[in-house]
Amino acid sequence: MLVIKNKGQPATLTQLARAIERTGIVPLNKQHRIKVELRYLQQGPERFGEVDLDNAQQVELAAYRIARGQIPRPISGRQAPSRAPGVYALAIIGSGTTAAYYLDTLGPAHDHSGTIVIGQQNPWIHKRGQGISYINHTWRQVAMPSTNTREYGGNESFANRAEFGRMAEAVVSRRAGRWVKSSATRIEKLREGVYRISYNDRGPKSFKAEKVVFTAGAGSIRKPPEAEENSTVRNRSRIIDMDTFIRDKAVQEKPRGAAKRVVVWGSNAAIDAVAAAKKHGWTIAAWLYSRDGQPAWLPGTRYLSEPYKLQEVHQHVYTDRRRLKIQDSGGLLKVLDGADIVADTVDYVVYGLGSEDLLTQRQGGVMDPSVLEGQQALSPILDTSGVFGNALEQGRQAQAFLGWQNASGTFQVFGLAAENYAGAVDPRGNLARIAPTDPRVMALKQWLSGDVLTVGQLTYIRSALRAVNHFVPGSIEHGVDYSHADANALRVHLAARYPELPELHASWFIRMIKRIRVGSIQTRLPHGFTEQQVNHIEEQLRAKQEEFRGRRKQPTNIDAVNWQWQLAQALIELTPAPGEEVAEGLSKLRVEDR
Ligand SMILES: Cc1cc2nc3c(=O)[nH]c(=O)nc-3n(C[C@H](O)[C@H](O)[C@H](O)COP(=O)(O)OP(=O)(O)OC[C@H]3O[C@@H](n4cnc5c(N)ncnc54)[C@H](O)[C@@H]3O)c2cc1C
Repeated sequence: MLVIKNKGQPATLTQLARAIERTGIVPLNKQHRIKVELRYLQQGPERFGEVDLDNAQQVELAAYRIARGQIPRPISGRQAPSRAPGVYALAIIGSGTTAAYYLDTLGPAHDHSGTIVIGQQNPWIHKRGQGISYINHTWRQVAMPSTNTREYGGNESFANRAEFGRMAEAVVSRRAGRWVKSSATRIEKLREGVYRISYNDRGPKSFKAEKVVFTAGAGSIRKPPEAEENSTVRNRSRIIDMDTFIRDKAVQEKPRGAAKRVVVWGSNAAIDAVAAAKKHGWTIAAWLYSRDGQPAWLPGTRYLSEPYKLQEVHQHVYTDRRRLKIQDSGGLLKVLDGADIVADTVDYVVYGLGSEDLLTQRQGGVMDPSVLEGQQALSPILDTSGVFGNALEQGRQAQAFLGWQNASGTFQVFGLAAENYAGAVDPRGNLARIAPTDPRVMALKQWLSGDVLTVGQLTYIRSALRAVNHFVPGSIEHGVDYSHADANALRVHLAARYPELPELHASWFIRMIKRIRVGSIQTRLPHGFTEQQVNHIEEQLRAKQEEFRGRRKQPTNIDAVNWQWQLAQALIELTPAPGEEVAEGLSKLRVEDR
């Protein structure tokens, strides 16, 4: 239901369509759909309410709704051509958190009866282990977008791994039309233009879909050669991956009395294994990583404090990976760098050396070349709608990286799978994974808190998918997470909650929020603005709106610039000193509970 008015009098759909076009909110490639989508709003089941052409905020809200898409169609009247029988509208490959974010951001009105998901248990429930019981992020950073979680939490409130995994699984289970608990073995594009997804479930099986969203995470964990089946190391069962260590060894074989020794191989990819070893009393004989892969300490991490203090662990930095060797040492292991013994009498060598790309890995890549539609590789999906842009900086900013897709856009890759896919052209002209410092990645990270480094981290994935599906939560009128919201969400919140705040002030405000997040305070605020800062922001917005209520005052650029500048200064002053936020969070936990 949509009622269109102009100064309280009935107005036409065409007039509203023109007004929406003028806002510039609907991307160019969707403008031809404005009238059709408005008709869906008028005649369909969604209760949008009233839009008065004289009220710019209401017109903008309607524009954002059109940009977001997925407006349910009227039950009667002309229907879009239905799918071929037995063909799903959408197949999601993988049933982890990215799949859950994708389903969640399609919105509550989406008809999921044509959606099929294939995948196994969310890895945070069991596979990655509970030897470290939390994910290194707070709920405000990783909760489902529809919950619009805004409560401040420091590192004392990191999300519990199993609880988080189960929450994401519940979304998949609730939303997907059908969930096949298996693994895809092949994805092909058939001549008739649909995809066939093959899997094995007591014999070969398959299903077809018009569109495929690939969110199956990482492929095989890279092993050192000594851990391979054909290795000559007798004790090779003592060379284990980090998931196995955290899940099955760290607690279960916890040293009691006699010291147990472990070597961990891998930088940030393996850091949770070093932490689990330290926490559960193992002797870390050495933490190995290469000179060009030094650990990056995430701002806000617990790992630099008691009981971890990982910076003090004995670290061995190597320059040539080929010189590192793992050999038997009686019933245990030793590690050598060339002729030098790095560590001897080691119970386990634990590796966390990254993983293959599931789509293309040498043995058993699941993507058939037909998916590429004649291209050499998938291309980046970029934010062309300005979700991570800024109204005041148009054309000067890199478009944010969201994922990968083929030419028709009917095969898309998101999440950890997107981090692992090599589709970016490196300086030597080779295809490589997208770097965390790529300007297109930085363009999105500028909208996030300081502890997000890579495309495969949850907070990044969540923001990317909100943009892909033009998602704004239903509760946006009541509040927004100033720390992780994109320009879309911020603008809609301002329009709904502070309708008399002038456009000029709204634009400068949004620009300021982004600027301040990337500036000097980003590392001091690893999990976003504090409660005190949020209260201050809201007070200032209320006060500014008051000045313009009933058009008592004309907006000027100078007023908008001064206002946002003063607000920025106040937010900087309210930012805790370096290290203070982490220390305060940790002080809320006993050392043994960290
Ligand atoms: C050890 C480790 C620690 C991490 N720590 C953090 C952290 O603290 N904070 C953070 O933000 N991010 C962290 N990450 C990044 C990680 O990418 C995200 O947390 C998150 O797991 C990404 O979700 P995803 O759904 O893309 O992939 P995954 O979580 O890996 O889920 C992939 C899903 O696909 C399924 N699947 C696999 N193969 C197939 C197939 N062939 N067919 C169908 N389904 C398949 C799996 O069963 C699984 O359900 C960590 C990653 C790792 C590996």
